[in-house]
Amino acid sequence: MAEQESLEFGKADFVLMDTVSMPEFMANLRLRFEKGRIYTFIGEVVVSVNPYKLLNIYGRDTIEQYKGRELYERPPHLFAIADAAYKAMKRRSKDTCIVISGESGAGKTEASKYIMQYIAAITNPSQRAEVERVKNMLLKSNCVLEAFGNAKTNRNDNSSRFGKYMDINFDFKGDPIGGHINNYLLEKSRVIVQQPGERSFHSFYQLLQGGSEQMLRSLHLQKSLSSYNYIHVGAQLKSSINDAAEFRVVADAMKVIGFKPEEIQTVYKILAAILHLAIYERLFCWIVTRINDIIEVKNYDTTIHGKNTVIGVLDIYGFEIFDNNSFEQFCINYCNEKLQQLFIQLVLKQEQEEYQREGIPWKHIDYFNNQIIVDLVEQQHKGIIAILDDACMNVGKVTDEMFLEALNSKLGKHAHFSSRKLCASDKILEFDRDFRIRHYAGDVVYSVIGFIDKNKDTLFQDFKRLMYNSSNPVLKNMWPEGKLSITEVTKRPLTAATLFKNSMIALVDNLASKEPYYVRCIKPNDKKSPQIFDDERCRHQVEYLGLLENVRVRRAGFAFRQTYEKFLHRYKMISEFTWPNHDLPSDKEAVKKLIERCGFQDDVAYGKTKIFIRTPRTLFTLEELRAQML
Ligand code: ADP
Ligand code: MG
Repeated sequence: MAEQESLEFGKADFVLMDTVSMPEFMANLRLRFEKGRIYTFIGEVVVSVNPYKLLNIYGRDTIEQYKGRELYERPPHLFAIADAAYKAMKRRSKDTCIVISGESGAGKTEASKYIMQYIAAITNPSQRAEVERVKNMLLKSNCVLEAFGNAKTNRNDNSSRFGKYMDINFDFKGDPIGGHINNYLLEKSRVIVQQPGERSFHSFYQLLQGGSEQMLRSLHLQKSLSSYNYIHVGAQLKSSINDAAEFRVVADAMKVIGFKPEEIQTVYKILAAILHLAIYERLFCWIVTRINDIIEVKNYDTTIHGKNTVIGVLDIYGFEIFDNNSFEQFCINYCNEKLQQLFIQLVLKQEQEEYQREGIPWKHIDYFNNQIIVDLVEQQHKGIIAILDDACMNVGKVTDEMFLEALNSKLGKHAHFSSRKLCASDKILEFDRDFRIRHYAGDVVYSVIGFIDKNKDTLFQDFKRLMYNSSNPVLKNMWPEGKLSITEVTKRPLTAATLFKNSMIALVDNLASKEPYYVRCIKPNDKKSPQIFDDERCRHQVEYLGLLENVRVRRAGFAFRQTYEKFLHRYKMISEFTWPNHDLPSDKEAVKKLIERCGFQDDVAYGKTKIFIRTPRTLFTLEELRAQML
């Protein structure tokens, strides 16, 4: 529980609510937002509401207030979480990670930048030049990735169109010595298609507007944005042209003229290659790889320098429900199901299981376990991705509709799957090219159109070979598969969905191996306004982030736990019964004696191997007593 500010700002920790109910939660969240208190704890989780205005709460003086303090000593803030993760890493040599989630525009990327800035500000007190250099590179990498991976959307002027996980490596002194970035699923289709009012990636505009005359000339580019269809906003105009019908007319015409079938196919392949642009993504991935080459830890010998520890920061797209949802939303929402599952596992389930294991009386908390939806998507042979891959494996022509048929026949009975064919009366589904997944965050209707193509993501091998044989070494590097021999190539490449699934499984495994800290971001309204707190929109986010369940578990639970042995090791100097050694039958008995001595017996529970302390204040007092004895 955080140090209480004046109650006029609401409760600094949702754990302090009188009753755990949605109305009270929302009232507190709203009050704090209106008072400019955008952060609130749930125990060690920070809930953040995007203020949509600059707040004077990230400066040097604020950093100083959080540096080295315990989480609950100061009002809720990102810096408190960053410091907790840093301390766990430094004091206990733990790898930690900070998972930032929330929907587009909720403030994830800004939060990740403040966290990085905080870590940069509190490290390297001795001003070692090498460490300063590393810190600079880590901070600057953000800016490059944002130029190539972010774009203006209707929801967010600086929307990240890729997921990012960044590891910062620290030496035994706790100073940054390097890092590594993983990127996930760049929205490459944005290069050619943007919704009205949206833009392509910043990089294009930056080059055209900012590049020197001479540079543009050497690239054969014109300064005028309207010269380029892909980034020309006007290209989105409605017209009466029926592209689909025209497509067939043209294909027929080519046949009639005498184009061979292979030739027609090649024409479309080339068109596809241009449309897919699998090129912009290559460029982006290559940039990430180059950054990684530079920032990765070098010459760190653990036998000499001690353990190298890590803080990971995950800033990844939140749940997306658009008017038209396609393959990309399917992947993004699957990613969020995975992260929710991790959250459940780590925060809710493990907590309950530990109390059970330790024999501490525990009232079961009901929560929705979304594993069933994760399975629906990723299960081997039976899940949606497996069915999609099967469809793509078929020789001969496979259509999106055939994929939908397969889904219907294999998943028709699944509680979280439905489609028009299965519930014809459903009004939401206007076309029979849709299927619906009942996600933990709500129902989403996906259009199957494009699933097959996007999943195959085929760029044919000749093109890769051409690129690989380029005399430009950068291009060559972007297309390493170009060197594969014909026989190697015939092996089927992994599909886009399977690659994504594998990267998600690896990400979750990685996060699960670290001590997690959570920032849950909420977007107060859809107008980017600092004034409006849209109750309905916020309540929905609170619901699907599972925040009420989080409070319930936290309140039922204990803020702190430690094995008797470790607890004694840290606090034995407080009591004459335990200092310097105790003669009681067990460490557990000794801890009991120590706790009673301090008068904390009502605030603790004794498990089989660990002591559990309910309120952080008790721990804080123990720390003070300890400090007095030293
Ligand atoms: P997300 O990454 O979740 O899509 P961003 O972090 O890019 O969202 O935030 C969207 C916009 O909201 C930012 O460009 C900024 O204008 C505003 N914003 C977000 N967090 C803050 C903050 N802590 N203080 C002020 N403005 C913020
Ligand atoms: Mg972002």
